[in-house]
Amino acid sequence: MIYPHDKDAAKNYADKAFNQMKKDGVAPTPNNFEVWYVYYSKENREIENILSVLVKKKTSASETQLREIYDAFLNDNRTEERVQKAGENLQSTITNVRNVVAGVKTSTHEYQGSLEKINMRLGANPTAEELRSVVNEVKTNTQQVISRNQSLEVVLEESASEIEKLRQDLEKARKESMTDSLTGLANRKAFDSEIVRVLADSKTDKTPFSVLMLDIDHFKTFNDSFGHQVGDQVLRLVAKCLVDGIKGKDIAARYGGEEFVIILPETELASAVSVGNNLRKTVANKDVINRSSGERLARITMSVGVAQFSGNEDLDDLIGRADAALYTAKNNGRNQVAAAPNPVNKSV
Ligand code: GH3
Ligand code: MG
Ligand code: MG
Repeated sequence: MIYPHDKDAAKNYADKAFNQMKKDGVAPTPNNFEVWYVYYSKENREIENILSVLVKKKTSASETQLREIYDAFLNDNRTEERVQKAGENLQSTITNVRNVVAGVKTSTHEYQGSLEKINMRLGANPTAEELRSVVNEVKTNTQQVISRNQSLEVVLEESASEIEKLRQDLEKARKESMTDSLTGLANRKAFDSEIVRVLADSKTDKTPFSVLMLDIDHFKTFNDSFGHQVGDQVLRLVAKCLVDGIKGKDIAARYGGEEFVIILPETELASAVSVGNNLRKTVANKDVINRSSGERLARITMSVGVAQFSGNEDLDDLIGRADAALYTAKNNGRNQVAAAPNPVNKSV
């Protein structure tokens, strides 16, 4: 976001933002700061609406809430801004190239015209003097065209490297917009598009695929006991276990909060259950060490729901079945995997 404030106004908002973070006991990270700065400077209506409810109730905004607000309203904007800027740069590069090409076209045209005129001027038996003047004229005109063409070449080369840079910027922005900033996993948006692709492949290739929904057990208690920063550390640790525990075409994503989802292409239910169990065991065996104190904290466990695509259900039904299986795993005592039964055939 671009902030239009002068020094005094900016200082006023910054002071308020710092006091707020101090009062709420949240870390004064750049992202938390920006959320509160935007709130106090009234630069974003949605942020204002959300936080004013908390401020009125005199409730603190938690680290999680601030991150969610940042991701929803500031992080995305940032990506959008970058994509927009890259688009504008591309537009001006194209205009540059177009102008140079138009210039060269005109000069080529003029060159052709001058050659035609010279041709007409030359009689059947030109004198040596006439020939010399014609040669000089042709030479001058040719040199002009050459130098114009050379300048076109330079502009084209510059444009090619500018376009390559823009392509890389866009690619980076696209990747960021598909990545969860805390864990580095694919985010919900990326998951939504990947699963559509996997489902289409499964139908075309007539191969099965399965989905795992994974949710950390009693994470609220964990957060409440050890604090949000440790909670975040756990989310990163779990994400790493998931990435390390899957392979090839498998896709792990953060579904939201402390919930993850994995797509296993070309995988039947029984194998998916076994992947789920391996991941569950890996996480349960990890030591969570508090980085600042070195202290060993409670073990973390997760529950997993697994469903295999039935071949004729829609995505919501598939996710719904995996989710229902996850809740079965929770109800059966957590730290376990539950498989969704085959869906009831909907056809009449
Ligand atoms: P259950 O075993 O039934 O899943 O219980 P739970 O406590 O894990 O589930 P609940 O949905 O009650 O709480 C989820 C908690 O996850 C609430 C919130 O504090 C925490 N959480 C969600 N997102 C984040 C995050 O980004 N960072 C941190 N540190 N905590 C988060
Ligand atoms: Mg949970
Ligand atoms: Mg949950």
